[in-house]
Amino acid sequence: MKEAMHYVKKENDVVQCELCPWKCVIADGERGVCGVRENQKGKLVALVYGKPVSISIDPIEKKPLFHFLPGTDVFSIGTVGCNLKCKHCQNWQISQEREIMGEKLMPEEVVEQALENNCSSIAYTYNEPSIFFEYVYDTAKLANKKGLKNVMVTNGYINEKPLKELYRYIDGVNVDLKGFTEEFYTSVTGAHLQPVLDTIKRISKMKTWMEITNLIIPTKNDDLDKIREMCGWIFENVGKNIPLHFSRFFPYYQMSEISPTSEDVLLKAREIAMKVGLNYVYIGNLLTEEGENTYCPESGKIAIERKGYNILKNDVEKGKCSCGEKIAGFLE
Ligand code: SF4
Repeated sequence: MKEAMHYVKKENDVVQCELCPWKCVIADGERGVCGVRENQKGKLVALVYGKPVSISIDPIEKKPLFHFLPGTDVFSIGTVGCNLKCKHCQNWQISQEREIMGEKLMPEEVVEQALENNCSSIAYTYNEPSIFFEYVYDTAKLANKKGLKNVMVTNGYINEKPLKELYRYIDGVNVDLKGFTEEFYTSVTGAHLQPVLDTIKRISKMKTWMEITNLIIPTKNDDLDKIREMCGWIFENVGKNIPLHFSRFFPYYQMSEISPTSEDVLLKAREIAMKVGLNYVYIGNLLTEEGENTYCPESGKIAIERKGYNILKNDVEKGKCSCGEKIAGFLE
């Protein structure tokens, strides 16, 4: 059993976890909101340490990360549990599972398997990786020593101190900005918007490469004025070079009654984001003519051409388009 990091002891064997904005106060024998951090006689224990329930080798484009080692494979792991309760979660079978399960795979074995499978990086993904903090931390530190990169796919629900501690070893991240109103966050995810915005701002000041995903759900967060506002916030607080992925919603879990996002809305959202001034805007979960390609912001040429998760053409050399303009990212 691995003792958790980032918690304080209170009176009567009660502990308070300080890992994410919930700051759960946990009595002996109880667990926090995420379901994977348990108070055992006054000691907070990380129950899913070394217990991934999902292990797979994916193209990095699937995370999605489009400006980070394009065309490489990433060794991906996830556990059970999550600190959010999204009604549309695609991985709800693991994220909302409270029985601790998974095969034993310790950090050194994760790194070994990533290297054996010629992966360039390890991704902490599928469920929310912040809640298996200690497992990510130990694995990422080791991977870093062995020359592997580390990638998080996260909801951004993590406090400042653990974020800063962990992201020293995180090279790339995709943050899910699920909507741009507090009402959306409370009603659909059970959490709050501001902590996610705070995380995005904090990461933007670090050396970690960041991309943002926004899943557009019809009738829930598809208001184009709000999307414009969100893009404006990203532009002002992070800058024009952060890739933004608009993703198509499909009916799922507790949102099986809602129709998939129309192509029209996704195209309009992309147009709005580009008008606001963002240089790299993508459409995911839907094949469109331009929505997966990286265009050079200077010459307008296709710098990287994609179809699905495949790269058809990559004209970026030493981080530059053939016209000489720099394409942002981890593209060396
Ligand atoms: S990580 Fe889990 S236990 Fe800790 S504060 Fe967040 S939800 Fe609560």
